[in-house]
Amino acid sequence: MKASAVILGAGVSGLSVAMGLLKRGHGVTLLERGEVGTESSWAGGGILSPLLPWDYSEAVSALALRSMATYADWVKAIEAQSGKIAEYWPCGMRVLDTPRPEDALAWCATHGLTAQPGPANPGDLWLPGIAQVRNPRLVAALREAVVRLGGVIHTHCQIEDAAIQTGRVLSLRTNQGSFPADRFVLATGAWSGTGLPGLAGTPNIRPVRGQMLLFKLEPGVLESILYRKGLYLIPRRDGHVLAGSTLEDAGFDKSTDIATLQRLHAEATELLPVLGSIQPIRHWAGLRPGSPDNIPVIGRHPDFENVFVNTGHYRYGVTMAPASAELLVDLMEDKSPVLDPAPYSWQAALERAWGDTL
Ligand SMILES: Cc1cc2nc3c(=O)[nH]c(=O)nc-3n(C[C@H](O)[C@H](O)[C@H](O)COP(=O)(O)OP(=O)(O)OC[C@H]3O[C@@H](n4cnc5c(N)ncnc54)[C@H](O)[C@@H]3O)c2cc1C
Repeated sequence: MKASAVILGAGVSGLSVAMGLLKRGHGVTLLERGEVGTESSWAGGGILSPLLPWDYSEAVSALALRSMATYADWVKAIEAQSGKIAEYWPCGMRVLDTPRPEDALAWCATHGLTAQPGPANPGDLWLPGIAQVRNPRLVAALREAVVRLGGVIHTHCQIEDAAIQTGRVLSLRTNQGSFPADRFVLATGAWSGTGLPGLAGTPNIRPVRGQMLLFKLEPGVLESILYRKGLYLIPRRDGHVLAGSTLEDAGFDKSTDIATLQRLHAEATELLPVLGSIQPIRHWAGLRPGSPDNIPVIGRHPDFENVFVNTGHYRYGVTMAPASAELLVDLMEDKSPVLDPAPYSWQAALERAWGDTL
């Protein structure tokens, strides 16, 4: 076996790095403060693309597009390893009332994304290549794959202290004992900005709350993702439809409110009128690991040569999971990564600042 790694945080970011390391022969222990995959990775929608892909920097596009190109195979490998189904579905996405559709179409053409203008309204774009995954099921499959590959997962594990010596972390002391390792990975999602005893928090990461509604229709009523002006509907194959989401600066508060439920319900009904005659069966909120410009931090911690981070994927952590894990594992093995790692470095994150909007 190669070097051992301890990973903090068992959301999609921690689990996908765990799988990448295990597949390359490393030993992996995951330490999760709560339950596996019950934070943002559970709460999200599972759309496998930025919502308006042409609206982001090349740093976001590079990670997202590389992930999107490999997602089907990545999920297939996880399903084969775990025996669990993640419900990857290339259902396509319809974007209605796109501002500047010519620019959007030109961007898609240069980035290899198929896009067709709608016959009635040229602002309606059909993106047939966009897929989705049922994120709670993906996380369950990832967890099983990690365990079957020999990874060890400790839940309800609280970090109390880090043993540090000359620029290296030697071990983490927890309420379940001490965990020494050759390398450590911080993948603690929205909590990454807070830091840990002896370890500085990742710069500029903060929680951004998102509220979601879930409806139950007959299968087949909606067959593709629909997006208009900040609101999306995501159909699942069994007839469930998710409606989301909000972007809220509410700290670490995951509560929901009735006014938002009513607003999301009304906007969802505008997109799909049948939703007006039924009530949502569930309403929840999750905390995204928010980062300025949605650019994650993937790379080495500046204070310790054997500590790495994979966090800050904000609105697209499920989408970006395969390429982010590939990038980090390459960096941990001192291999030349496929993508330029510079935009995702700690130093680059220090230099980015939040604007006025989330
Ligand atoms: C409403 C909503 C909709 C979304 N929709 C989409 C979408 O359609 N497509 C998409 O790609 N993305 C979407 N996202 C974003 C996506 O869910 C996140 O970017 C992604 O899940 C982040 O994964 P993560 O593993 O970094 O964080 P998390 O899933 O939050 O996992 C972090 C884990 O770290 C643990 N932890 C924290 N502190 C510690 C500690 N000190 N020690 C040990 N463990 C710790 C937490 O308990 C948690 O389990 C959405 C998010 C929300 C909230």
